[in-house]
Amino acid sequence: MKIIIIGAGIGGLSAGIGLKKQGHQVTVYERVEKILPVGAAISVWSNGVKCLNYLGLNEEVKALGGDMANLAYIDGFTNSVMTQFSLQPLVEEAGQKPYPVSRAELQAMLMEAFGKEDVKLGIGLVNIEQNLSEKDSKVTAYFSDGSSDTADLLIGADGTHSFTREYILGKKLERRYAGYVNWNGLVEIDESIAPADQWTTFVGEGKRVSLMPIAGGRFYFFFDVPLPVGLPNERDNYKTLLKQYFTGWCEPVQKLIDKIDPAKTNRVEIHDIEPFDTWVKGRVVLLGDSAHGTTPDIGQGGCQALEDSIYLTRSLAINTNSIDDALKRYVEVRAPRANHLVMVARKRCGVTHGEDPAATQAWYDELRQEDGKRILQGILNNIQGNPLD
Ligand SMILES: Cc1cc2nc3c(=O)[nH]c(=O)nc-3n(C[C@H](O)[C@H](O)[C@H](O)COP(=O)(O)OP(=O)(O)OC[C@H]3O[C@@H](n4cnc5c(N)ncnc54)[C@H](O)[C@@H]3O)c2cc1C
Repeated sequence: MKIIIIGAGIGGLSAGIGLKKQGHQVTVYERVEKILPVGAAISVWSNGVKCLNYLGLNEEVKALGGDMANLAYIDGFTNSVMTQFSLQPLVEEAGQKPYPVSRAELQAMLMEAFGKEDVKLGIGLVNIEQNLSEKDSKVTAYFSDGSSDTADLLIGADGTHSFTREYILGKKLERRYAGYVNWNGLVEIDESIAPADQWTTFVGEGKRVSLMPIAGGRFYFFFDVPLPVGLPNERDNYKTLLKQYFTGWCEPVQKLIDKIDPAKTNRVEIHDIEPFDTWVKGRVVLLGDSAHGTTPDIGQGGCQALEDSIYLTRSLAINTNSIDDALKRYVEVRAPRANHLVMVARKRCGVTHGEDPAATQAWYDELRQEDGKRILQGILNNIQGNPLD
């Protein structure tokens, strides 16, 4: 089958790798010349790693992953440990270690595995045409450079601002601002800030400062601050603002702010999208953030894009009634799970970021009583139910 994929993010490239392995002829169109991900790193939880393993990328993802052996929550003001425990029980239960990885490196690894020669960079999708009344209609994509391409299937892996979604739904969906701004980047590991093998999160006032180890002796860091949407994004001001937002916080947090390089720091206003389950129109189908835009509060957006890729690939391989039938089965399996996780992340986001200060305080109190079991079970609940369990 000839397949067009729109978007060379985690979703588009992983789907491309899987579909090529099934013998399909796949071309990816990506509107930017150079992909600049909105986050410096990404935590690929066990379900996402299993999807990459399934694509034959076991060694590659392992090489990018940091050694995240433990998890700790720390009181941001006093620097006292609220809870600290090993992630090993989760690894044993899930059957796979999670890997925090650099996004740029993950992107490059996926691009290499898919084959750069089949990615058309700097070419954006601007229109789609298909004859819905005709059985086995082909789909034609029109691009920003005036070219077009016709295929048996078009996969819209074009992210949170998806044109393909607008085409399928016949309207634009407004994104919902989640109420906080996230600054993220990479720094060299410094054990006076946090242990090298731990996912450490400082909390207080509905804010978060988090560090995760990735390969190459680096920490992925992020700061979350509840703020109104639409404030100016002035890179020169990042450190001054973070110092202001984290006044009175403990020494490791101050040290981290001193260490960051604003030129290499990303600032993102966090949004999600109200879940919906119309992911298909004829021979056009959604995958990844275009289908389910989530807040990053449970680290599942990219992992769900990977699950979509594996399941879509498999659905097209194992269901031979028709392509339409295989697409229908893909959506029936994927939409409930991905949409459920959007809502889990939204709820987690509210508690973490002080939407209701009493609920956030209750969570801080809970953390001080936590021996790890509840948190690990929470993460496992998100991981389990993936297509490779
Ligand atoms: C701060 C932050 C932290 C996160 N942390 C995690 C985490 O720890 N774990 C996790 O699993 N997920 C995380 N996520 C979510 C994750 O980043 C996304 O879910 C994931 O990147 C989605 O991949 P995608 O391929 O669907 O979309 P994208 O990565 O957005 O890729 C879409 C691509 O399509 C291209 N495109 C768009 N329109 C067109 C067009 N018209 N024509 C051609 N190309 C087009 C874009 O340029 C882009 O390259 C995080 C997100 C954020 C914002």
